[in-house]
Amino acid sequence: MNTADLFKQKTVFSLEVFPPKRESSLQSIYNAFENLKEIHPDFISVTYGAGGSSNINATANIADRLVHNYGYTAVAHLAGIGLKKADVDHIIDNLLPMGVNNILALRGDEREGIEKGDFEHAVDLISYIKGKYGDKVNIIAACYPEGHIEAHNIVEDVKHLKEKVDAGASQLITQLFFNNDSFYRFKERCDLVGIKVPIQAGIMPVANKKQIERIVTLCGVELPTKFTKIMSRYEDNPEALRDAGIAYAIDQIVDLITQGVDGIHLYTMNNPYIATRIHEAIKNLI
Ligand code: FAD
Repeated sequence: MNTADLFKQKTVFSLEVFPPKRESSLQSIYNAFENLKEIHPDFISVTYGAGGSSNINATANIADRLVHNYGYTAVAHLAGIGLKKADVDHIIDNLLPMGVNNILALRGDEREGIEKGDFEHAVDLISYIKGKYGDKVNIIAACYPEGHIEAHNIVEDVKHLKEKVDAGASQLITQLFFNNDSFYRFKERCDLVGIKVPIQAGIMPVANKKQIERIVTLCGVELPTKFTKIMSRYEDNPEALRDAGIAYAIDQIVDLITQGVDGIHLYTMNNPYIATRIHEAIKNLI
């Protein structure tokens, strides 16, 4: 299954999970998959590094299970930083026989101890995969409605995004955002530079204040007043904060779907309860 084809039929609804850092926590994610069955997501993507395990085997093993034990379509994230071409070949040659042909190709972020690899930017990885594997792999890329944190300016960032699409990315998934207006402005910029591939909006329901503060520091997204008021009012009441976070995410999603978004990608933070509640509220809209 090529996930880019899904957009021709419907508003795509997908989930993201991350491999736990500790092997011992793996069972918790498999339990989560059981609980996600009700949702029938169009695909589930599995991160690589980025706060979870940075062992590509962990990503591949989870993707394999998603396909073979649960019948889901899986997307494997692949961050090129520190990798050589031969590493990428090895990873993809391992994923394809598992039935995992959808790859979210990223640059990744500097980590301690990482040596220089063959891919400076995501576009280099995308070009390489496209050149080597052609249509055997469906390539997805990341995008940033408010601009990538390192970008000199938003115009350059969108120009680089266009390069990723021209190199072979057939669909895009955004970084999380809490202000839909920034997404709509971004869509207009994409239209202006001729980016025509589907763009899924990445939505992260707030589960706890610390988690959001850490993420915001890492990626620099705007926190609207309406959102910060929720965090301040309920910071000492985890259940209320969770419920308000779910309501906020549902509100964002309903607005996005009403405005004709191509798809929603839910950052589940491996929490099936939150994903299920959000899906329950929007399932008749997608
Ligand atoms: P790039 O597209 O290379 O962009 C990075 C920066 O370089 C931008 O500022 C861009 O404007 C600039 N740039 C791009 N091309 C050029 C060029 N040719 N010349 C000069 N400047 C250029 N990280 C992980 O480690 N693992 C994951 O699983 C993961 N999953 C993610 C999923 C999504 C949906 C998103 C949005 C991000 C994810 N990330 C993940 C984070 C991502 O790796 C970081 O945001 C990283 O800093 C940038 O990755 P990129 O692929 O967007 O890089």
